[in-house]
Formats: sequence, C-alpha cells, structure tokens
Amino acid sequence: MKDNDNDYHTIKYVHSERYLNACSKLPAYNRHSEQPYGSAANLIQEEIDELPSRSELVHSLIEAFGILEKVESIEPEKALMKDLQIYHSKEYVHALYKIDKSLKARSSLGDKEEDMSDEEVSSDESSNSDNDDATDIEELKKQFGLVDDAHDFKGMFNYALYIGGSCNAIAKEVNHFLKSSSSEERLTILNFEGGRHHARKSRAAGFCYVNDVVMLSLLIKRRKILCIDIDIHHGDGTEEAFFSSERVFTVSFHQFGPGLYPGTGTTDNNGTGRGKYHNLNVPLKEGLSDKNFERIFTSVIAKSFEKFEPEVVILVMGADNLNGDPLGTWNLSLESFEYVTNFVKNELKSKVTIIVGGGGYNYIHTAIAYATVSNMMVNNCKLPELIPEHSFFELYKSVGFSSNVNHGVKRDENTEQYLKEIEQQSIKQIDNIPPKSNAAQI
Ligand SMILES: [Zn+2]
Repeated sequence: MKDNDNDYHTIKYVHSERYLNACSKLPAYNRHSEQPYGSAANLIQEEIDELPSRSELVHSLIEAFGILEKVESIEPEKALMKDLQIYHSKEYVHALYKIDKSLKARSSLGDKEEDMSDEEVSSDESSNSDNDDATDIEELKKQFGLVDDAHDFKGMFNYALYIGGSCNAIAKEVNHFLKSSSSEERLTILNFEGGRHHARKSRAAGFCYVNDVVMLSLLIKRRKILCIDIDIHHGDGTEEAFFSSERVFTVSFHQFGPGLYPGTGTTDNNGTGRGKYHNLNVPLKEGLSDKNFERIFTSVIAKSFEKFEPEVVILVMGADNLNGDPLGTWNLSLESFEYVTNFVKNELKSKVTIIVGGGGYNYIHTAIAYATVSNMMVNNCKLPELIPEHSFFELYKSVGFSSNVNHGVKRDENTEQYLKEIEQQSIKQIDNIPPKSNAAQI
C-alpha cells in the first residue's frame, strides 16, 4: 500500500497459508502452558481441537483489525537446501533433513501438509540419507544443537525451507527496489515469523533453527545494513556472523545479567578486523522502563544511522521485552513498541526497512504488539482500544479484551548513572566507525 502521509512509502507483509502452517510448527510458538488464557483455553480447545500457535494468533489479530486490506502480501515459496547454505553449513542443513525424515518415519501420523517434499532434494543432496540408524540420529542432534530448547520437531525441515524461502522473497523485493526505485520512494516489509537471531552456521540454539536475519543480510548484497535488535536476549547468532564485517552494523539492546540467556553481549565485544566498532552491544539490567528504553534507543540509533548511513535497516522486534513475558524481566509497555515503530517510520526514514519478529512468549501480548507495529506502519496510528471479534477472540478475555499491554512495576535497576555510562560508551564506539561513502568500497 501507499502510506497516507507519504505516497512514496510502500508497505508489504510476508504471508501465505502454507507459510503460516509451516511456521506454526515451531516449538517456541506452542508453549501453551505458559499462556495466561485461563478458562478461555478450554472454550477454544472445544471449538477448534487445539490451541493456536503464536503465528496463528499474530496473523489473525492483524487481519481482524483490517490492517491487511490495503497491504500487498509477499508469498514465500519453499527454498531449496542449497539456498539455506548461503549461511548455514551443508552438514547442518543435511542434519535438519535427516533428523526430520527419521521423525516422520517413526511417526504414525502422515500429515500431508507438512510433507518435506523429497522431490526438492536433489539426488546429490540426499545421498546417504536413507541408511541412518537411531544412534546416528542421536549423535547428529547433539552435534548440531538440536536438543533441549532447540530440540527437533516434526516439520522442522519444511519450516527451515519456508524461512529460507521468506528470505529469498524479501531479498528479491529489496534488491529490485534498491535498483529501480526513485530517490523519494521507501519500502517497508513486515515478517513477524522472522527474527530467529540465535541460530548459528552449524547449530540450532535458543528456539532458533535458521538465522533469517543473517540470511537476509547476505542476500541483500553490496548494501550497507544496520541491524537493530530489541529482543530482550542478546542477538548472539547475528553478532557472530558479522563480527568481522563492516558492511553489516549490528546493534543489540538486551538484558545482561546472571542467569539470563545467552550470557553474552558485553560492550567490549565490538567487532574485529574490518568489522571493528561495527558490533554494538547495549547491555541493560532488570526492570527496564519505557522511559529509559526510549531514551537509550533514541540516542544510540539516531547516532548509528547518522554515522553509518545504511541503505537497509533490519529491525528485530522480539516481544519478550514486554512486561508479562514468561522469559523476560523488563517493564516495557506497548508504548515502547509504538515509540520504536514511529521512530523508525517517521524519524529514521530508511530507504528500506525490514521488520521481523523474534521472541515473545506471552502470545497475547506478542499478537497485540505486532498488530500495533503493523497498524502504526500502515495507518500511522495506535490500535483501537478493544480487540475485534475473530476466531481467537475468547483468548483475550485474560486481558479484558483490551488491546493494550501495561507497563510492569518491577524496580528499574538501570540507574541514571548506569544509563549515562552505557550511552556515552555507545556514542564513543559509533564515533569510531570510519566514514564510508558507499557499500561498494566495503
Ligand atoms: Zn528473546
């Protein structure tokens, strides 16, 4: 669609039924025991057999608010195995295939919808896939991190191919746009299934299997990319991929402290070699308030954008930074999501902005947050006060059918002195980034 206030701003939304079904299988989107649905969960279960995944909740709410009526969809096709290898190792991609295949073989359920379509795996790629015994599979799982909070699941390979496909589709749009658009045109793409920032080249980690943030940054070639990550967890996978890159500047705002996953993300990890100063960590403490988050976000990002002059911004909007998240400890309300979206849209005004999801384990809050981001982008305004009637309406009973997320009341451990220090240190690092006229020099 064309933005009301700016006829030159096009907004697109990544979605198809098949894509949604594939993404719905992600274990991180099915942690129903942690949800504050209350008795409404029984009602829903009676009506539709099973509770919706986070993917379904998010999409249904965005749709219910009527936000998608004027927005063009990008419908991802499944990627090929070799497409994932733009970042992930061949061995890892093969392990995803083999393990999923063995899971399917052992399962008595033959769900056609999540069929991994063997015809898409060339004979070369699938060689030695058929003679693995259970011991080999267990070894593979351990070797590639497909255990614990990144355990294997049925449909895993199909999911990986669809996420790869979403990256292909987005990158194709962006590359075409950057080549052919006029100077005043802008493009924003929303993909709330993305943002899996913990996945490594050869390892699944922290609920993440395919690092779409890294894949996108590699597929959008020869362009300067500013990657902003506001998920409460450090974007360690993205940091690792671009630690020595001066083309992709990664900035992560995250909680850092005892017991919080992944335990990395200190200020001294600021890049290496040509990538020196191009990795910025903003570690924050428990109880972060809207006011303090907005302050540090604004000063760090405004400065980063001004100094680095990116052509593309990728924004990882993990919603586990919101109050009420079962894995998070910050106090942020919906105001912070409104603030960041407004800032990116109306202040940064990047030529291209790609907004992806991330964590967010209170699904009701996450759906409200992503509907807010979508509405702010598309209609430049906050959501109406009440949740509209739709398939999952009853699940919002626990929040009084309100489309707000209130702030928390935990003590904000980020003192004025701490914030000042971290702000000054960040600005100093950004000042150290050498000026570059364009990405062709990189
Ligand atoms: Zn997270």
